[in-house]
Amino acid sequence: MKPTHIEHIGIAVENLDEQIKYYEEVLGLKCYNIEEVTDQKVRTAFFMVGQTKIELLESTSPEGTIAKFIEKKGQGIHHIAYAVESVQQALDDAAAAGVQLIDKAPRKGAEGLNIAFLHPKSTFGVLTEVCEKP
Ligand code: ZN
Repeated sequence: MKPTHIEHIGIAVENLDEQIKYYEEVLGLKCYNIEEVTDQKVRTAFFMVGQTKIELLESTSPEGTIAKFIEKKGQGIHHIAYAVESVQQALDDAAAAGVQLIDKAPRKGAEGLNIAFLHPKSTFGVLTEVCEKP
């Protein structure tokens, strides 16, 4: 799979606007994009730290995966996303290694990236995303 870097860290939040304030005022980062991803039922906010992003995720529905995650585990780190050359290749490699996949093929994520998730049951509890620039 050979990721080149951590593309972003996804953080589940209850209130996007409140947390943007924290990241801007306390950490001194700048929110450069807010985007709703309808099919994932989330509103996202992005900050750049070096070549890695922080992606805040707020659920837009009580049925969304982020709402359910917060219900079970509380707010906090939700997933780690690795930048790879090819998401499909990464999925094939992971599957060949016996890793359970959430997505069998790449799909569109925030910021126009092609993304896919590996199942946390197979990744020692860390929800793992792989992504590539199209
Ligand atoms: Zn992500």
